[in-house]
Amino acid sequence: MDPRVDELLHYMRANYSGFGVGFKEDVWWWRLMPRRARRAATTLGQVVWFPTRRQFYRDQRSAFYRLVHECVHVVDDADEETPFLLEYTMPQWSLLILALCAIAAAWTVGSVPAWVRWPSLALPLFALLPWPSPWRLYLERRAYTMTMWVQQRLRGRVTPGMRRYILQAITGRLYWRMVWSRERAQRIVETMADRVEARWSAWPTGITPLGMEVARIIDKHRGTPWKRST
Ligand SMILES: [Zn+2]
Repeated sequence: MDPRVDELLHYMRANYSGFGVGFKEDVWWWRLMPRRARRAATTLGQVVWFPTRRQFYRDQRSAFYRLVHECVHVVDDADEETPFLLEYTMPQWSLLILALCAIAAAWTVGSVPAWVRWPSLALPLFALLPWPSPWRLYLERRAYTMTMWVQQRLRGRVTPGMRRYILQAITGRLYWRMVWSRERAQRIVETMADRVEARWSAWPTGITPLGMEVARIIDKHRGTPWKRST
């Protein structure tokens, strides 16, 4: 394993008692998920799930980038003032509760006609549509700021490829189309990247302990080639 990945894992295990790493290929319920979800790294609670063991060990540079991003989610999840899962799944879960209340009302109040009752059963599907989510966007912006910041420290800039990748991600199906306007998403990504480039030596807001640790790891291994192992 590359020493950078190893050290970051060590730091997270030492500081977050619930932290762990899993592989989606090992668990039956991940196989039920859409392909796109199986191929991405995901944080659930304080466990970071990577797609496959082979990919994780073979491409340690990518594993490091992904791990840093997911660790921001772990840190945010551990912060008890932020109900991470509720915030991340807004507004769908709250719309779902409203939909269920509306159905309960439609089927318990005697005077509601059948032409209202039966269509009301479709309301949960309406609630789960890909509505814009400033809450999820906020949490992903924190994590992607750290991704950009790592690239800034490793390569001296936030590359156009990285900007394109993040733009695609935040407007795409991976985050359930949390931003609808591509122009707005582009402005968000460019502002994030320009800020990271302009303040490259500053720590990302709100994730200082993790940022300092990642900086220490990067500086310690500056110039070391990324190790590949099978
Ligand atoms: Zn994320």
